[in-house]
Amino acid sequence: MPKLPLRYYCYVCGHTNDLKLNVPLAPKIERDEIKCANCGDVTHLLLTACPKCEGAFRYYLSDLDFPQEIVSLAEAYVKLLTGVRDSLKDHIKEFNVPVPKKWSVNLKCECGEEYTAEIPLPQLSG
Ligand SMILES: [Zn+2]
Ligand SMILES: [Zn+2]
Repeated sequence: MPKLPLRYYCYVCGHTNDLKLNVPLAPKIERDEIKCANCGDVTHLLLTACPKCEGAFRYYLSDLDFPQEIVSLAEAYVKLLTGVRDSLKDHIKEFNVPVPKKWSVNLKCECGEEYTAEIPLPQLSG
């Protein structure tokens, strides 16, 4: 896992924070939080690095924990489907609804490499 420098300007107070972060290679995405050393404001961050040149891609999410939102939505969807399936089980033999396995994003690195980073999502259980 490459350790990459990150210079982050706090959007609340403007303080410059110099950090070094562990960045996983795509398709793995790491969720991280950075805290301003001056005002303590927390920013959520998605981190992944180009698998070819290991240069970092960063995604700032300010105060919203975006991956957590996606996973909770997917969980709600899976719960809903499970409910529908259970209510229909006396009437139908098979219940197959495709559920997305992951949330993915296509990225293009400065080195020219195109790659995908992804977050696994909750799945229907048997
Ligand atoms: Zn700050
Ligand atoms: Zn690259």
